[in-house]
Amino acid sequence: MNLVTQVYETSKLKPEKTAYHFMGKDTKYGEFDKHVSTFAQGLEDLGVKKGDHVAFLLGNTPHFIVSLYATMRIGATAIPINPIYSPSEISYILHNSDAKVVIALDQLLPLVEKAATSFPTIEHYIICETSTLTGSSISELPEDVRKKVSQFTHFFAKDRPNKAPIEVDENETAVILYTSGTTGHPKGAMLTHKNLYSNARDTADYLSFSEEDRVIATLPVFHVFALTVVVNAPLLKGATILLLPKFSPAEVFETIKAQQATIFAGVPTMFNFLYQFPEGAAEDFKNIRIAISGGASLPVALLTNFESKFNVRISEGYGLSEASPVTCFNPLDRERVPGSIGRSIVNVENKVVDEFGDEVSVGEVGELVVRGPNVMKGYYKMPEDTAAAIRDGWLYTGDMARQDENGYFYIVDRKKDMIIVGGYNVYPREVEEVLFEHRDIVEAAVIGVPDADFGDEVQAFVVLKEGAERNAEKLKAYCAKRLAKYKVPKSIEFLSELPKNTTGKILRRSLKDIVKQ
Ligand code: AMP
Repeated sequence: MNLVTQVYETSKLKPEKTAYHFMGKDTKYGEFDKHVSTFAQGLEDLGVKKGDHVAFLLGNTPHFIVSLYATMRIGATAIPINPIYSPSEISYILHNSDAKVVIALDQLLPLVEKAATSFPTIEHYIICETSTLTGSSISELPEDVRKKVSQFTHFFAKDRPNKAPIEVDENETAVILYTSGTTGHPKGAMLTHKNLYSNARDTADYLSFSEEDRVIATLPVFHVFALTVVVNAPLLKGATILLLPKFSPAEVFETIKAQQATIFAGVPTMFNFLYQFPEGAAEDFKNIRIAISGGASLPVALLTNFESKFNVRISEGYGLSEASPVTCFNPLDRERVPGSIGRSIVNVENKVVDEFGDEVSVGEVGELVVRGPNVMKGYYKMPEDTAAAIRDGWLYTGDMARQDENGYFYIVDRKKDMIIVGGYNVYPREVEEVLFEHRDIVEAAVIGVPDADFGDEVQAFVVLKEGAERNAEKLKAYCAKRLAKYKVPKSIEFLSELPKNTTGKILRRSLKDIVKQ
């Protein structure tokens, strides 16, 4: 079984069930399958074959879901790219991934025009209409570029009989996801059909998704968290996706109410925005049976404040692109532990190891390693990085963690973000959690900066509530009451917002740049 076959079967059994809702329009499973089949045949007409690479520069619109399932349906590999990456980041990925066809938002037409001359190996560009300008803008392209470009809607101009998915080996690559790239160039994690299918199934089962569920999809769909949790898992269960083009608290609340959403998934920043939204009330989350947080650590103060304001339970989970992504979640049928990423989901093993790869005792901190059907095949064209990441069958996550006696895991921090002050380890997260508890603080991030005497020093960046007093000394005194002396920030800088990437992860590199400047 794979995702494509499962959705194809759902469309035969329940053609009238809504697969996704977007901008006021429902698309049924039968209709969705027809779009996928038609577009898949269109890709074949362009010469796309099993094993070819198709890159996507798309946002949260149905173009993404149809393109993904059509690409997988003919055994080709999808490469979702963040459409708001800089031109040089996009160029790097287009080059590294050996894309043959690119499917892009019409806003990216200027980029497509440049790419058409710099990437002779890209044979075709498909432009998705999100504005009225598409047609005329395409006709204004130079002749040599225009012949390589077609409009997404043109693939649906003629009615084509439905064609069943072709057979694909479960170990063939379904998608290549370029990971955040916090170090050096991004690496393309190759996820197979088995990886994607097993993780969507195991996550959906662990969180008891059913066909009755209506799942808000406001996380960016090109990112692995959204891909598995709010796209593939609902489709696999025959549920309904409520697709939102972008994140806005007002629209999330409105959609939950108007569309009777039952599942909300977001990164901690989204929970923070929803929590701070002045008009938000418990009534707004009434239909939600489970709120899912992942992608970064959810501060305990935010979890408890959110739960009491909205009378909803948040289940925090953990994952990474290389593991398709989910490895742990707080269970629904047992205790939910604030600050913990929960227990291993079904079929996936997690353990904490020392620098020699030996499992450490309960409570001790080490690196989290993962094994299971969800672990990637490797990084595309990077055998050395693959060998460093997967050792003896275990994926080394680069995250420091500990496990308690009940099998719950706790992420301490990224291994490389650890700060060493005079020989003592400080994990930014422990300082951030304390800052987060302060009533005047909206957000906080902590990094290490070089110090002549101690090697590293702790530096904090803080976003204050409107009207709060900017007093670094008072904040340091507050920390000193709660933390060992060496963990107290030596300096605190006030910002109006923290630099983050589109998936809500704090960009520590940008904070380091602020310090350098
Ligand atoms: P990505 O591959 O972009 O999904 O990033 C994966 C990384 O996000 C992990 O290696 C962690 O560092 C971080 N991450 C994901 N979920 C959590 C969580 N619940 N708590 C702390 N860090 C997380």
